[in-house]
Amino acid sequence: MSEGPDEPKRFGEAIRKGDRGAIARTITLLESSRDDLAGRGQAILEQLLPHTGAAVRVGITGPPGVGKSTFIEALGVHLVERGHRVAVLAVDPSSPVTGGSILGDKTRMELLAQREEAFIRPSPSGGSLGGVAHRTREAMLVLEAAGYDVVLVETVGIGQSEITVAGMVDFFLVLLQPASGDELQGIKKGVLELADGLVVTKADGELEAAAERARVAHTQALQLLRSLSPSWSPRVLAVSAPTGRGIDAVWDRVLAPREALEASGEAQARRREQARAWMWSLVEEGLQRAFRAHPEVATRIAPLEKAVEALETTPAAAARTLLEAFRSR
Ligand code: GDP
Repeated sequence: MSEGPDEPKRFGEAIRKGDRGAIARTITLLESSRDDLAGRGQAILEQLLPHTGAAVRVGITGPPGVGKSTFIEALGVHLVERGHRVAVLAVDPSSPVTGGSILGDKTRMELLAQREEAFIRPSPSGGSLGGVAHRTREAMLVLEAAGYDVVLVETVGIGQSEITVAGMVDFFLVLLQPASGDELQGIKKGVLELADGLVVTKADGELEAAAERARVAHTQALQLLRSLSPSWSPRVLAVSAPTGRGIDAVWDRVLAPREALEASGEAQARRREQARAWMWSLVEEGLQRAFRAHPEVATRIAPLEKAVEALETTPAAAARTLLEAFRSR
């Protein structure tokens, strides 16, 4: 399939039939940094929009090594066996220090990747967290239109990425190590407040008792945090990927509250709020780009940054100069 005036329609139809090549190609177009290619992706996405929104969107976070990819694979295979079609996406902003990916390039989720009913897409690479998240949202819409009824979005539990992912899903799971509960593993309280559910991993073999202790400790810690939703309070579950313990319970905890949340209108309100916030983040991104590209601004940025660093001018004065330059035509 190639470019042409009927490309959006052709691709749109192919995607709705589940054509994996058309799905992958469209996501690649949407991820492109070239405006012409990204524009072609947008035209296809527009065809698909009426067919999006039907999936359960689940965010999954946790520190490196906690068992995210192992858990996602176990959950994904479990869901596929129950008749679901499962898409796995990732938000992995490159490490600001090394520039490398944090989720890692190791071969992940091999079992799930072999399943016809599953589609796994690694994180878009490079760019700001906002840019990566934006492209992941669009990929999510493409996959929903292709009939995937569960979308799992993975991210590392560091920095801002979990807040961003929590802002694009219906349900946000935080994965925890089976370490002794008293230290609470340095989890930021803010992350716990985002969680709709907590999962202690590796509840098997030697770690089983530690996982159980962690589950009890986290349950108590959560009781101290006020639940954000009047009709749902987060639970803590212990799971094991090799034995399968708790995997089905996690899913029941994902679906069960959705019914209550949909009945109360909270689920719909959350998506509406997310859509509005997404619009504003796109506006802000566009303004930033236009600002930096403005000819009167572009030439002033570097010298003003230097002057601010050298304390020759104040940040406020420099910002005023740039904003005035931006408004000058
Ligand atoms: P990620 O970095 O969070 O994606 O973690 P991985 O999924 O790569 O898992 C990190 C390590 O923990 C690997 O060696 C896994 O085999 C191990 N692991 C993950 N889940 C389990 C589990 O349920 N039980 C046991 N015993 N080991 C696990």
